[in-house]
Amino acid sequence: MATAVEIRNLSKHYKNVIALSDLSLDIKQGEIFGIIGPNGAGKSTTLKILTTLLTPSSGYAKIFGTDVAADPDSIRKNISYLPEEAGAYKQLTGREYLEFMAGLIQIPDGETPAEVVNRGIGITGLEERIDDRTKEYSKGMKRKLLIARALMSKPKLAVLDEPASGLDVKHAYYVRGIIKDYVRTMGITVLLSSHNMLEVEFLCDRVCLLDEGHLIDIGTPNELTAKYSARNLEEVFIKATGSSSAVPGGAI
Ligand code: ATP
Repeated sequence: MATAVEIRNLSKHYKNVIALSDLSLDIKQGEIFGIIGPNGAGKSTTLKILTTLLTPSSGYAKIFGTDVAADPDSIRKNISYLPEEAGAYKQLTGREYLEFMAGLIQIPDGETPAEVVNRGIGITGLEERIDDRTKEYSKGMKRKLLIARALMSKPKLAVLDEPASGLDVKHAYYVRGIIKDYVRTMGITVLLSSHNMLEVEFLCDRVCLLDEGHLIDIGTPNELTAKYSARNLEEVFIKATGSSSAVPGGAI
């Protein structure tokens, strides 16, 4: 399978902080790949470099063969990015928001903006509420709209920062369902970061664990749980990052 993302010796330094140190990994086309790690591990830094919002201090990242730092315009045409703290324009209805965004993104060959918007409306699952102003939406409804915006153009790579962050069980289940099923059908490659290990285990083909800017481990959820003799990814996380001492009694 073709390589969607190639990361080699990628580092990002701020004055006194090493946000990311010498990260190398590949993501295959069609994969749902998760980045996990404690707060400050370098997850958002990695996503921001890949989405051209940050430039690396050293090393490189390529998306479908194009260097993200050398040709950011071309990268932006082929990817979509859902930041953790994204919002929709409050005065627009959900439909108007998707129409507005369709004017800014790359429309797939052979499709019209209207077709892309209709696909987006379908992804939201908002039905008649799509014509309400987004300021009247709950957090879960807004997130569904934003996920639809990120996926409606069938980008080659969707980068999703905490896709179901802060959602109740029902909305989170819906959003994960979209990612798992829709993305597979469309052949979209997904890179996501999450603090929810249940979500990562459910969604991701492979996972990498970062801590303090360093790659600690990488593999399928099954490989990692076997390697750490863990019952689930949460235990892998605790064991691999040495966080168990923070748990009263030292264990869950
Ligand atoms: P979280 O799970 O809390 O969102 P993260 O894994 O996404 O964390 P990053 O946001 O990538 O972590 O941050 C990695 C490190 O880089 C942290 O120590 C953070 O304080 C630092 N950092 C991020 N942005 C800047 C900045 N603009 N200036 C200085 N340091 C920064």
